[in-house]
Amino acid sequence: MTAIVNPATEQPVSQLEPATAEQADEVIARAVAAQRRWRDVAPGDRARLLRRFAEQVDAHIDELAALETAEAGHPVGAATWEAGQVRDVLLYYSAAPERLSGRQIPVPGGLDVTFKEPVGVVGLIVPWNFPMPILSWGLAPALAAGCSVVAKPAEVTPLTALRIAELALDAGLPENVFQVLAGKGSVVGQRLVDHPAVRKITFTGSSEVGRQVMAGCARQVKRVTLELGGKSANIVFADADIEKAAATAPQAVFDNAGQDCCARSRILVEAGVLDRFMDLLEPAVKAVRVGDPADAATEMGPLISAEHRAQVASYVPDDAPVAFRGSAPDGPGFWYPPTVLAPLSSQSPAYTDEIFGPVVTVTPFTDEAEAIVMANDTPYGLSGSIWTGNVGRAIRVARSVEAGNLSVNSHSSVRYWTPFGGFKQSGLGRELGPDAVDAFTEIKNVFIAAD
Ligand code: NAD
Repeated sequence: MTAIVNPATEQPVSQLEPATAEQADEVIARAVAAQRRWRDVAPGDRARLLRRFAEQVDAHIDELAALETAEAGHPVGAATWEAGQVRDVLLYYSAAPERLSGRQIPVPGGLDVTFKEPVGVVGLIVPWNFPMPILSWGLAPALAAGCSVVAKPAEVTPLTALRIAELALDAGLPENVFQVLAGKGSVVGQRLVDHPAVRKITFTGSSEVGRQVMAGCARQVKRVTLELGGKSANIVFADADIEKAAATAPQAVFDNAGQDCCARSRILVEAGVLDRFMDLLEPAVKAVRVGDPADAATEMGPLISAEHRAQVASYVPDDAPVAFRGSAPDGPGFWYPPTVLAPLSSQSPAYTDEIFGPVVTVTPFTDEAEAIVMANDTPYGLSGSIWTGNVGRAIRVARSVEAGNLSVNSHSSVRYWTPFGGFKQSGLGRELGPDAVDAFTEIKNVFIAAD
């Protein structure tokens, strides 16, 4: 049995028997049969079922949010938003089945048409940091495309995915079109990668496991989308609205206690405004409300586990240059305070590694060219922000930073109606936005002779 533990209290929430590789094979066999039927459901009916699925999620937002707060320690306000995102993403992609058009291409001697065919069974491997949104980003477009889905939630956060699968059945989705396989990554996750009947893997998680998943998929030339780690820059130029940049910098990195692939965990500040920026950042960091995730006023909860907290803490040894810190509760729970490190060498692990916790570094730069070099000096390329009052600079820097999702004068990262994904070792392929369904289809070209 695997115990699911509330990271804010260290008390057990539930326990589950992890699935075996043999059970994974049974689930995959059912998914194969279900997919053959699902692809033949009329597009309008697939759309209607997705909308009903969204309605079921909407009717259970509070229940799903409470589950996420209990198993992942997310503040209830954030967890409610996350459950709402599942509904919204299902609704967004419910418009897709009726719009999955192919093309008619002029050819001599007949008619040439293309079809967007579903790839088949999709293995959807999900991390623990945003269990509900990340599930929905793969699930909704895959179902819309006519694929069946076997989702593998992270070991420590399976409860919302299991409940969402029940809601899918309640909404009338045919059995086995969406199944959840709760178990170990090395057992059932690996089985999804290795099983030839699984035609595509959508993986979100660490770059290390992502590399293994990609290698596994390569053996079968299996389609794969990878959403991996990040070490994103928050670049603040002297001509920016420094108050706003400093006021939002804590949210940009400490949201979800820094367990966010898009966390802007390296703040780069133009040297002339560094002191002013730090003066403004300190009260903003100290004002972050860290505490009981079930309290609606809480902004930051605990880390996911004791092991993860120890790993985060290892980036802040006793002699680390802590500029200032926020607060964290005493007592049970895997708490870690928001922490600002400065000055720091660019060789320091806290500057180079994805910490995945509430630790941010602040480093000065001298000019635009140096800011771009520093922002790109990382194997990752997921996200980032650029703060400037100069439109030309905003355009130049946005085009030069090697990252998939940038925002100018904003700390926002993910909008489900715009594409999301990484450059370099932050991933492969894009999720979300109007084209995401294409990642779950194959183009079939058919020539029909006219003679
Ligand atoms: P992880 O790589 O440890 O695990 C992710 C998932 O993969 C889990 O479900 C795990 O059980 C499974 N897994 C583990 N070994 C496997 C194997 N051999 N085969 C198949 N599946 C396997 O990641 P994590 O610790 O759960 O999540 C944190 C990481 O996820 C961070 O690096 C973060 O940046 C990244 N992340 C990226 C995005 C993005 O969209 N780019 C979003 C969220 C999180």
